[in-house]
Amino acid sequence: MEKILVIEDDRIYKKIMLKTLRRSLPHIEFFTIETFTETKNIIESKKEFDLVIADINLADSTGEHIKELVEANYRVVVITILDDIAFRNEMFNYDIVDYIIKSELERFGYLVKLIQRLELNRSRAVLIIEDSKVVRNFYKRILQKQNLIVYEAEDGKKALQIISEKKIDMILSDYNMPNMDGMEFLRELRKDYSMLDLPFIAISSDDDQTTVARFLKIGANDYLRKPFSKEELICRINNTLDMIEMLQKVKESANTDALTSTYNRHYLYKIVDKILIEAKKSNNPLTIAIVDIDFFKNINDQYGHLAGDVVLKAFACLLKHRLSESDIIVRYGGEEFIIIFPKKDLKRAFVIIESIRKHTYEMDIPIDEDKTISITISAGIAEYNYEETFDQLIKRADDALYLAKERGRNRIEIESSKSC
Ligand code: GH3
Ligand code: MG
Ligand code: MG
Ligand code: MG
Repeated sequence: MEKILVIEDDRIYKKIMLKTLRRSLPHIEFFTIETFTETKNIIESKKEFDLVIADINLADSTGEHIKELVEANYRVVVITILDDIAFRNEMFNYDIVDYIIKSELERFGYLVKLIQRLELNRSRAVLIIEDSKVVRNFYKRILQKQNLIVYEAEDGKKALQIISEKKIDMILSDYNMPNMDGMEFLRELRKDYSMLDLPFIAISSDDDQTTVARFLKIGANDYLRKPFSKEELICRINNTLDMIEMLQKVKESANTDALTSTYNRHYLYKIVDKILIEAKKSNNPLTIAIVDIDFFKNINDQYGHLAGDVVLKAFACLLKHRLSESDIIVRYGGEEFIIIFPKKDLKRAFVIIESIRKHTYEMDIPIDEDKTISITISAGIAEYNYEETFDQLIKRADDALYLAKERGRNRIEIESSKSC
């Protein structure tokens, strides 16, 4: 999101709001106006904004400007002191993005979160499963106002097909549908996708009290019981996306080393069996390298622990740049990294590690404003022989690393016998 227009005539309120928004969202440019007349000029000149945050009561308008903005296809968030249900519903009928009551807007936290959500939604795709085209279109319009990418299916069967073809982040599904209903679909979905992989919100029109519970038991993340308001639909969708993304972040951080952002040991042991089985099954080569920074302790001793951390980060960064997406980088110990090369034999892995050794040696790492240092690495490489355990494979690579250290460092050894 780049440009947001703020329409607000209360100057003190506007000043506080803009200060918070600019501080929390420094990448966004904010523009402000105060009147309906200025709003008309903006609409007439077709000026583009990603979002309009508009107060309802202006000196020359009591909400007419909101209607005109929405009709001109602007995305509008209404902020008001007016806590009136009829008026709120009327505003949502105009297809606004959100309605916020000023007194409930504690230090603008909700507004900041909403803008961030709308930014993220641009890359989030929701699949609507609903047999009525009219209802589908109704949901679609609401979701698109929230910046979401929308796909549609008229039943569960079509939905399964779309999921296999497109990247979908969330599903909103009706219950009663021909061919495959919402519950049958969800059962199929959960065979391959967990609640965290692909969240599912059920819409139940059933008077049967058990429907919602049954949906939740087979893996629905949330539900909406008809009739529901547009506002409730928006809240459920955005909340589910927020929650899933938060959980995904937690999961990611459990697998990642905080200092270098490479994978950690925990992740390595979680995935390694699968990787070895896959290599054996498909008869593909698989090679691992253990890479260790030489005399790293000296860097800590001479320049301090923080300088040591800078070096580790710089080296991890070099690894990420020099390796391909399919190679797996793991921080295995303090200054020791394991690299797994799926589908690469010893020769190819050697060439890559050798180029990394050279680039590491040539890299100047700035540890201070006027001080750079350079490092060397040693490495041991071993190719998986399909018969051994992962620990045995690591042991062979580690023996090779030991040899590289013994033979003078800044070099690579393959297994324990051959040298390069
Ligand atoms: P060699 O060439 O034989 O590998 O020598 P070395 O000094 O690199 O190896 P050694 O195992 O003696 O020392 C590793 C040092 O790495 C000791 C430890 O304090 C330091 N270290 C481990 N983790 C971190 C870290 O996260 N940050 C910093 N700055 N230092 C770390
Ligand atoms: Mg006002
Ligand atoms: Mg070392
Ligand atoms: Mg070490």
